[in-house]
Amino acid sequence: MNQTPDTYDAIIIGGGPAGATTALCLARAGKRVIIIEKNEFPRFHVGESFLPRGYDLIQELGLGERLSQIPQVAKYGAEFGFGAGKASTYFTFDQALHDEGPTAFNIERAPFDKMLLDAAVEEGAALRVPATVKKIVRLSEGDVAVDIGGETISGRFLLDASGQTTLLGRHLGTRRTLENHRKVAYFGHFENVERLPGRAEGHPTVAMCDEGWFWMINIDERRTSIGFVLDADIAKTIDCPASDMLFWGIERCPLVRERVTNATLPTMTHTIADYSYYCRPFSGPGYFQVGDAAFFLDPIFSSGIALGMETATKVAELTVELLAGQDGTKTPAGRTPRSPARVRRDYARFLDDSAAPFVRLVNLFYDHNFREMFLHGKGPFEVQRATISVLGGYVFPKPRWSLTWRILLLHMFARLQRHFTLTPRRERYSLLDATPVSLRTVEPVRASA
Ligand SMILES: Cc1cc2nc3c(=O)[nH]c(=O)nc-3n(C[C@H](O)[C@H](O)[C@H](O)COP(=O)(O)OP(=O)(O)OC[C@H]3O[C@@H](n4cnc5c(N)ncnc54)[C@H](O)[C@@H]3O)c2cc1C
Repeated sequence: MNQTPDTYDAIIIGGGPAGATTALCLARAGKRVIIIEKNEFPRFHVGESFLPRGYDLIQELGLGERLSQIPQVAKYGAEFGFGAGKASTYFTFDQALHDEGPTAFNIERAPFDKMLLDAAVEEGAALRVPATVKKIVRLSEGDVAVDIGGETISGRFLLDASGQTTLLGRHLGTRRTLENHRKVAYFGHFENVERLPGRAEGHPTVAMCDEGWFWMINIDERRTSIGFVLDADIAKTIDCPASDMLFWGIERCPLVRERVTNATLPTMTHTIADYSYYCRPFSGPGYFQVGDAAFFLDPIFSSGIALGMETATKVAELTVELLAGQDGTKTPAGRTPRSPARVRRDYARFLDDSAAPFVRLVNLFYDHNFREMFLHGKGPFEVQRATISVLGGYVFPKPRWSLTWRILLLHMFARLQRHFTLTPRRERYSLLDATPVSLRTVEPVRASA
């Protein structure tokens, strides 16, 4: 091993929610940790809607007061409807099967991510920014090193939290795109979008169409994040530049279009393509992948940050255990550390078990029969309430059996709905068949980032 006094216990690539949370927990455990982040914060990031479990975790980490300083909109549920804009369904988290937190929030990511990163640094994590990890120089148990452009940083563990960059996954050649989830997302921030009244103001709106779906998320008093997720193959057939695709979609979707009638459109939109993938194994000799660097599933149910931050706390705990194993000491809980292989199996199980109900629901979401059932809003054996528990993010370290069997049952009901009318049929809505209505006679300047 190449250990010197400069060797860190852990090198973390990326200071987003997953990297910052891992660093915060490791620094609190007294470990020497460095975050290498390529962008100065605050920086723009998509993903503004949190789950109740994410809100609870922020309180558990003792960051509630810091969070309250950032403008945000309280979120108590969600609105789902077809693009035609008739008869949406609303659910609230207080309808969940178990007595769990009913509150979450929507927030602009730039100040939120900065808040988390600042908290990690104040706990003692070192930060190199702007600094980009260019190359992984060494990667073995207890001995890792990265090159940040002419300088080598050494450590005992490498924790990849580089998000969609999936630095380690690409280095190891393990990144696999989920072929049946090939989507493109187009999004931007609007002002003065019409809002739902009262406590429903923070409900993200999901408008479902045959070709994809839209989100509308109020992130502060003025601004609303609007995004359009489109099947990647269909996107290729539409003669419209990526920078205009968000508007192309809205012009064909009454549910969204009617709410932006008096809004100020963004002067800049963003595009992300092919973002659903996994990088297995999630950990190996000398490393863990955490947050989006491990895997990413369709963002329809806003699970990304909750999964990323929960897995970050798990990775911190497991890294402490592996370090204790190398040092021949006990874990903070006074246990004899397990072997690295057992620790890694624990991590794989944690990720697979907690993500499983989301994977099932995401797969169902693109089936019109499931959408009909979901909008119906009720079902036998409290399947709907179990679904709301999952959508609240109460699936860690693994979902309760009371949720698992109900989600499996829901799967079966959706299959039956293909052949029998278990819940009322709903008309499909196709953007390709829709007649567009122009948003503005004078178009704003639109650029793509
Ligand atoms: C279209 C879309 C909509 C979404 N909506 C939601 C939502 O509503 N709610 C939700 O919970 N989630 C949502 N997500 C997911 C959410 O944004 C992510 O799950 C979350 O940001 C993951 O955090 P992270 O820390 O793993 O990665 P990131 O937040 O992406 O952080 C990774 C960091 O690593 C840095 N980095 C990358 N490469 C290097 C390098 N080589 N060297 C140094 N630094 C590097 C980057 O600069 C970045 O700051 C959405 C995602 C998409 C694509």
